[in-house]
Amino acid sequence: MEIESILLKQRVFFATQQTKSLSFRKMYLEKLKSLIISNETLLYEAIYKDFRKSKFDTYTTEISFILKDIDYYLKNLKALAKPKKVSTNMVNQLGSSKIYSDPLGCTLVIGAWNYPYQLSLSPMIAAIAAGNCCILKPSEIAENTMKAMSQIINENFPSEYLYVYEGGIDETTELLRLKFDKIFFTGSTKVGKIIYKAAAEHLAPVVLELGGKSPAIVTQHANLEIAAKRIVWGKFLNAGQTCVAPDYLLVEESVQEQFLEMLRKYIKEFQYSPDSDQYTQIINQRNFQRLTKLIDQKKIYFGGNFDEENRFIEPTILNNVDWKDEIMQEEIFGPLLPVTSFKNYNSALKAILELEKPLAAYLFTNNTEEKEHFTQKISFGGGCINDTVMHLSNDHLPFGGVGTSGIGNYHGKFGFEAFSHQKSVLEKTTWGEPNIKYPPYSEKKLSWIKKLL
Ligand code: NAD
Repeated sequence: MEIESILLKQRVFFATQQTKSLSFRKMYLEKLKSLIISNETLLYEAIYKDFRKSKFDTYTTEISFILKDIDYYLKNLKALAKPKKVSTNMVNQLGSSKIYSDPLGCTLVIGAWNYPYQLSLSPMIAAIAAGNCCILKPSEIAENTMKAMSQIINENFPSEYLYVYEGGIDETTELLRLKFDKIFFTGSTKVGKIIYKAAAEHLAPVVLELGGKSPAIVTQHANLEIAAKRIVWGKFLNAGQTCVAPDYLLVEESVQEQFLEMLRKYIKEFQYSPDSDQYTQIINQRNFQRLTKLIDQKKIYFGGNFDEENRFIEPTILNNVDWKDEIMQEEIFGPLLPVTSFKNYNSALKAILELEKPLAAYLFTNNTEEKEHFTQKISFGGGCINDTVMHLSNDHLPFGGVGTSGIGNYHGKFGFEAFSHQKSVLEKTTWGEPNIKYPPYSEKKLSWIKKLL
């Protein structure tokens, strides 16, 4: 079916007001939940075909996320959708003021391939919860997961409400010509700019969930053992193909050697290997080639081996990397961890400040002053102190970037708000109307107004 006619049908359907009823939203959230559960095997098989992502990783980083999101909205929908009463200023007495969360209408979600289910379905779930229609365009790069989502959604939901549109650049370009009431995009900063430009043509509001080089800092005041374990996990999860993975590491010089040893220990302990369930493949040959070219043989501290046939790149640590090295120029998005050292903590923060604002940042320390400087001096989308990646699992925290790493955010109530318009309504009584604001004006009226305002 032509995508334009599907969007048209969604417009007509939205106008019937059906998607606004809370019972309608809940019914479809429940339905999606039961479909995810009954199709778990299909979802596992598809993602394994795409990049050998294990059942364990798929459940913990994708399926459980989606189910948690649905449960969150099922539980909180009534409170989220309820008009919020706010106070009314003096000049509007006697009156009352409320903010209504108004569904936006027809929304578009464009997903990325690296967590294909979570990054496609979580925004769609937020769109449903907020009372919208939605077209989802998952990433064609993870082709099997795209097909699995299209099968689940298109065979079970009316297309005038929810629809998965399969395709790549051409199809996305076609979609971007159409007028949507919200575009939610997850992907690279480069494509984010294309989306933003296209959205501007229709003045469509956007959420752009983009990428960047997310630093991890380890100071001499850190619990080094814990820091090493959590950095290795966050970096090599999904073979480094995680938007919030620590991209590079800044370690205080006095603990550098000791810390690198610990990283090595945990990489070995976690048993990453091409045929193990602990490690995913690199998504495609293009990324495999791009990543292997970034390995500077002279700087390998650990790893550096790869196997083209299996698109496997060993977890690799590159030591004493220079800011001018190729690996420090762009987001890595793979299992290569460049390490550089610092003598002075503030100079490490300054170095981060000189780059674009990252999607995430991580600090490992038990020193209060260092923590304060980290949160106050550098700008980043979100992050952790003494952990990596886990901030995005807390629904009470908004998830999104800043500057070139993104615009807007979602998760929990923030996802609901991203797909709603905050509509302000002031209701006045129809009695007791003073004449003060009405012409004809006078000095006396002005002096009263000065007192009132
Ligand atoms: P991408 O930008 O190449 O693709 C994302 C989507 O855009 C896909 O659906 C694709 O079909 C579409 N697309 C690609 N080129 C296009 C074009 N020229 N015109 C229109 N549409 C186009 O990103 P990716 O490779 O799927 O994902 C990797 C990037 O995404 C990394 O930079 C990563 O950091 C970022 N990312 C961010 C988040 C986040 O939540 N902030 C999550 C995952 C990935």
